[in-house]
Amino acid sequence: GGTSEKPGTTPNPPKGLPPAAADGSRMNATFVTLARNTDIWEIAKSIRNVEDRFNRNYNYDWVFLNDAEFDDTFKKVTTSLVSGKTKYGLIPKEHWGFPEWIDQDKAANVREDMRERKIIYGDSISYRHMCRYESGFFFRHPLMLDYEWYWRVEPSIELYCDIQYDTFKYMADHGKKYSFVISLYEYVETIPTLWDSAKKFMQKHPEHIAEDNSMQFLSDDNGKTYNHCHFWSNFEIGDLNWLRSQAYLDFFDALDKDGGFFYERWGDAPVHSIAAALMLKKDELHFFNDIAYYHVPFTHCPTGEQLRMDLKCHCNPKENFDWNGYSCTSRYFELNGIKKPEGYEKEQ
Ligand code: GDP
Ligand code: MN
Repeated sequence: GGTSEKPGTTPNPPKGLPPAAADGSRMNATFVTLARNTDIWEIAKSIRNVEDRFNRNYNYDWVFLNDAEFDDTFKKVTTSLVSGKTKYGLIPKEHWGFPEWIDQDKAANVREDMRERKIIYGDSISYRHMCRYESGFFFRHPLMLDYEWYWRVEPSIELYCDIQYDTFKYMADHGKKYSFVISLYEYVETIPTLWDSAKKFMQKHPEHIAEDNSMQFLSDDNGKTYNHCHFWSNFEIGDLNWLRSQAYLDFFDALDKDGGFFYERWGDAPVHSIAAALMLKKDELHFFNDIAYYHVPFTHCPTGEQLRMDLKCHCNPKENFDWNGYSCTSRYFELNGIKKPEGYEKEQ
C-alpha cells in the first residue's frame, strides 16, 4: 500500500505503522442506512461492527437517509466512526407520503383493523412509508446516483466474522446483482394480495421476467400461489443499476398503483425478493455464507468449523438459522443444485 492518504478518508494508523487500507482499487460502492436521529446509538453499534470486520480495510463511503434533517450529534458521531466519506440526505416529501391515488379512509380502516389483530407494525403509518421508500426510492436518492453498488445496514445489527475480501468486487466479478444472508417466511397477514399483484405484473410484462429465474424459491406450484419465502432485506449487498432498471421500476410502479403498501402492510423484503427471484437469473443471486450476521431475532452463523476459525467468528453455530424449518435457505440451495456447506447436518 501507498503511504499517502486518500482525501476524505480517516488517516491511516500513526507514523511507522502500515496503512489500514487494503491494497488495490475500489468499487463504486457505498453503505446506505435509513435512520432517524433517535437511532444514533444503535446505528453507531452497527457501524462499529461493519468497520471492525470489514470497512476499516476498504474505507467505503456511507450514505445516511432520513425523512427529517439529521441533527449534529448524529452527523458527528457517525462521521467519527466511518472510515470512508459520510453523506447525509433528506428524503423528498414526494417519496415519503401517501400517493394521491390512495384512499385515506380505506387505509385508516386497515390500520385500525391490524391494530386490533395485533399485527406487527400494522397500525403504523411511518413504517409503511419506510417500506415503500426502501422498495422504490432509496436507490434514486440524489446521493445514491453517484454509486453502482450498495450495502444496506440497519441499526443494532452485528457482524461476527472477518470479511477478508471486497464483497462489492466479488459481486461484480461474479455477475451478481442481489445477495442475502438470511431467508424466511413472511407473515401472510401483511401481504394477502401481494402475489396477485406480482402475477398481474408478470402477465403484463413478460419481457421483464428472466428465463432462468428462481420461481421455485417463491412458489411450490409453479407460480399459482406464493409460499411467502423472501430474502431478509435488512441485509443486502446489491446492484443499484438493477434497481434503477426499467424492469424493476415497472415492477415497483405496478405494485405501488395497487396500493398494498397502505391497504395492507407490504414489506420491502418480499417486494425486493419477488423482484430478484423473477427478474434476475438464478446465478445473479448470491448467498453469503461467510458473512455472519445478526438482526433481531435471527442469526446467520456460517456453517463449517474451519471457516469460522479462519474468519475469527464469534457467533454460536447453534444459533444459525439457515437449516431451521422456518428458513427458506435450504430451498434456495436445492433449486440452485448447490451442495450445502460442509457440516450442515451436524450443525442444524
Ligand atoms: P424492522 O427491522 O422491520 O423491525 O424495522 P426497523 O425499525 O429496523 O426499520 C427499518 C429501517 O428503517 C431501519 O434502518 C430504521 O432505522 C429505518 N426507519 C424505520 N422507521 C423510520 C422512520 O420513520 N424514519 C426514518 N428516517 N427511518 C426509519
Ligand atoms: Mn431493523
